[in-house]
Amino acid sequence: MDLSIRNLQVSVEGKQILRGLNLEIKQGEVHALMGPNGSGKSTLAYALMGHPKYHIEGGDILLDGTSLLDLAADARARLGLFLAFQYPTTIPGVTLADFLRRSISAVRHAQQEAPSEPQRNGQAKSHLMPMREFRRELLQKMKDLGVDQTFARRYVNDGFSGGEKKRVEILHMAMAEPKFAVLDETDSGLDIDALRIVAEGVSSLTGPNLGVLLITHYQRLLNYIKPDHVHILLDGQLVESGGPELAETLEAKGYDWVREKYAEPVA
Ligand code: ADP
Ligand code: MG
Repeated sequence: MDLSIRNLQVSVEGKQILRGLNLEIKQGEVHALMGPNGSGKSTLAYALMGHPKYHIEGGDILLDGTSLLDLAADARARLGLFLAFQYPTTIPGVTLADFLRRSISAVRHAQQEAPSEPQRNGQAKSHLMPMREFRRELLQKMKDLGVDQTFARRYVNDGFSGGEKKRVEILHMAMAEPKFAVLDETDSGLDIDALRIVAEGVSSLTGPNLGVLLITHYQRLLNYIKPDHVHILLDGQLVESGGPELAETLEAKGYDWVREKYAEPVA
């Protein structure tokens, strides 16, 4: 299984952001994507997930050879793609347990069944995971990831602190069992303890069945989650790729040397 990004060009609000990006992620690999603010990291995450505001101007995104471009976000999720947002949204009126049960049931069911399941009244049949089975799994994963069990009865992200929202995202990821996960600045806004817990949570989910694209501005998350490959995005293009040592270079020297190396000549 691989997630293959080929010559991807993406615009937002009429402005071209990604300018021909190539990246190949295999299941089992952890890739870190780093780069200065505004370089297009979140744009890539949204484009991968199929956010309608991010227009694909060229190139392709393939999951095991099949293009995802014509698929909406929920269809991509059912194929095993998961995106943890930089800014998780609040869903008032929907409890976390209910949200997770619905979302996980839809994703898992799609992965088990043939793709063209008969539909009634134009609507996909609901296949909710049995409550007892779901609760058992939810409570176990909450425990593993250090998420307060009372959160299950609260509305999604309503009044959660930054660190709590990130933990809930990792919980969602653990429950969804994706094949590929894109984590956008999962470390931002976390204090050092919360960072460690979230990072250990992500680490515990990595393995041969998961490919990860870890988007981070700072190297510190990579102290806990060891990437196999590190890439630097600058002005919508991947300019450097290497191993974990590349992240250490960034930590020591910042991004200025990258900007200087790839500065466009002044006309
Ligand atoms: P990063 O995540 O690397 O900080 P982004 O992908 O968020 O970078 O942003 C890249 C560029 O795209 C920035 O110039 C930003 O202003 C622009 N951009 C991103 N999203 C939007 C949007 N929804 N509307 C307008 N401009 C956007
Ligand atoms: Mg961003």
